Amino acid sequence: MHGHMNRVRLLVFNAAIGALDYKVPEGMTVEPGSVVLAPLGPRQITGIVWDEKRLPANDVPASKLRALVEVMPVPPLSAPLRRLIEWTADYYCAPMSAVARMVISSGGALNGPATMTEYRLSGGMPERMTPQREVAMEALEGEQATIRELAGIAGVSEGVLRGLVNQGVIEPVSVAIDRPFPPADPDYDIPELEPEQREVADRLNEAVKARTFAPFLLDGVTGSGKTETYFEPMAEAVRMGRQVLVLLPEIALTENFLKRFEARFGASPVLWHSSLKSTERRRAWRAIADGTAQVVVGARSALFLPYRNLGLIVVDEAHEVSFKQDDGVRYNARDVSVMRARFEGFPVVLASATPALESLQMAESGVYEKLDLHSRYGGAELPHIERIDLTEEKPGAGRWLAPRLVAALEDRLAKGEQSLLFLNRRGFAPLTLCRNCGFRFQCPNCSAWLVEHRLSRRLACHHCGHETQPPDACPECGEPDCLVACGPGVERIADEVAEILPEARVAIATSDTLNSPERAAQFIAEAESGAVDIIVGTQLVTKGFHFPELTLVGVVDADLGLEGGDLRAAERTYQQIAQVAGRAGRGAKPGEVFLQTRHPTAPVIAALADGDREAFYEAETEARRMVGAPPFGRWAAIIISSEDDAEAREAANRLGASRPKVDELMILGPAPAPLALLRGRYRYRFLVNARRSVELQRIITGWISGQNFAPGVRVGVDIDPYSFV
Ligand code: ADP
Ligand code: ZN
Repeated sequence: MHGHMNRVRLLVFNAAIGALDYKVPEGMTVEPGSVVLAPLGPRQITGIVWDEKRLPANDVPASKLRALVEVMPVPPLSAPLRRLIEWTADYYCAPMSAVARMVISSGGALNGPATMTEYRLSGGMPERMTPQREVAMEALEGEQATIRELAGIAGVSEGVLRGLVNQGVIEPVSVAIDRPFPPADPDYDIPELEPEQREVADRLNEAVKARTFAPFLLDGVTGSGKTETYFEPMAEAVRMGRQVLVLLPEIALTENFLKRFEARFGASPVLWHSSLKSTERRRAWRAIADGTAQVVVGARSALFLPYRNLGLIVVDEAHEVSFKQDDGVRYNARDVSVMRARFEGFPVVLASATPALESLQMAESGVYEKLDLHSRYGGAELPHIERIDLTEEKPGAGRWLAPRLVAALEDRLAKGEQSLLFLNRRGFAPLTLCRNCGFRFQCPNCSAWLVEHRLSRRLACHHCGHETQPPDACPECGEPDCLVACGPGVERIADEVAEILPEARVAIATSDTLNSPERAAQFIAEAESGAVDIIVGTQLVTKGFHFPELTLVGVVDADLGLEGGDLRAAERTYQQIAQVAGRAGRGAKPGEVFLQTRHPTAPVIAALADGDREAFYEAETEARRMVGAPPFGRWAAIIISSEDDAEAREAANRLGASRPKVDELMILGPAPAPLALLRGRYRYRFLVNARRSVELQRIITGWISGQNFAPGVRVGVDIDPYSFV
């Protein structure tokens, strides 16, 4: 198809270099999308052969061009994937090189097949047996892994094992890093679907078979069995030999999902997330690229991988904020999923019990097909939601739980049922101050208070990770024992529960306590076995869990999410509380939910208590229409930052002075960003609001690229922002 290309333009992974042209040496064949190694100065760099017209021209004469070094042994990026890279870069005002880096996200994978050395017992005996050696040899019976992993398994030092290797008791084995993944069996255990589930699954199966673009919004109440339902079209795609991608928001919580997946398909899916080891990463990347990875379950970054033969994407909990990336390329995996499905021609399913307003709007206007699951699986009832007006029913002094909620906790404990207290605040207290002089502990790098973590005895910034030990005396006035914790975090609530109900077994579930898949799995196993009476958790526990004995949910501060007052505060609050409420009463026993609030008549709170989703969405839609917010208009945020405040301010002001004047486009700012100092950088912000008809990205790109910023200044563009800090 492609004639011999003897001059090619490369997209390289460094935005500052831009595009480079090379000569293709005699005997080498490349095509658009080929991943190649090229010389640059004394080094070699990786690049992708790209359509010349999409990259800045390069006027180096042919005689001066250097030759490509080699073509990497991976399949060329397909035309639709290259188009996705271009679209993502254009839409989010990001460099194409940065998007391409998300595709080539494993350097090792490019080097072709590789082996690694593992070790196992050889059957021989050591010259001299020691107690440690005996323990190790017993523990390693039937194991094969790296020395380091074996040392972990046997509970001995690596040195002990190396000694055994030297004596031939443990022998090396060479294994392919890229050994294939166990196959998923689409017919392993097909569940009996309820009629409503069956109807949805049949429609999705049909779409998978049609092999054409079809976007779906799967709108099902919490506990309706969305997972079981979308497993069916996944199985269909696997039967057809096509790949499936499932995007999940919180990778720490995939354990529950994986168990259900294994029960349905008889094998684990291929996992993709940021904490994979580099060998696991390259193994997954290569299997994805050669098409042998049948089902991939991953965090948002799995979306950009070079699937050879994708036939379906499912975005579960599609409303989740964690699908929006807030640094680097600021994309929303939910929206880019739909574009990928469109470019490659297959169905995409956005599943949620509380869809984003934008998604509902797309369904209403007929762009997405809406599929509904109205009732909970197995006849379970949706929980009853009640408000506790904190201005009337006050918690005791220094306490955060109102008497009615405490009584409900006592009642569940007596009945042997589980309860969940939800507060979206990690740590013990969000602010520590000095009673004597009023000093407040603030992060030196951010305009944020330090959060006290009493379990780990530290004061920590949740924005930059800065940590210190809480001192005994105030650092300002020197007064000893005068520091007080203000406000509650989950640890403080857990303490309160322990005081009121000393016999209750309490578990704290946050990203601090469930910081690895193993710990998350352990927590779930404990909760399922009934070893936990009361869970105190952050948003980490709002989704994915299914504990049949959990019958009470208490929302400690239902107003918390509304405080920020940003564009999405009401929607986020609604979604979060509806999701956490959805954890109650999923089994045979009905659930009850208490919302502690100071604003019981606020529209969000009232809609939740009345179980009136429509009322909330209608009010929110009207509010958005009034201010031209999405989906009626569009927003973009532009953040100018520098380590030097004056430099940042000056750059922002200069940019402001050259603002474009366009009809139906409004530019607010510059003003100090709500987080005016973040990770040591001073930040100024513009908010851009435009009608849908305006070419927002083109205008912003033109505006910014016309500027010469000082080297220390960074400019970040966030299209359709979710974070307003
Ligand atoms: P959702 O994601 O919609 O909140 P889940 O998919 O978690 O709901 O389903 C709730 C529970 O019902 C899960 O334990 C699930 O295994 C079970 N379930 C749903 N549908 C079926 C089915 N057809 N057969 C057996 N169990 C089902
Ligand atoms: Zn900080």
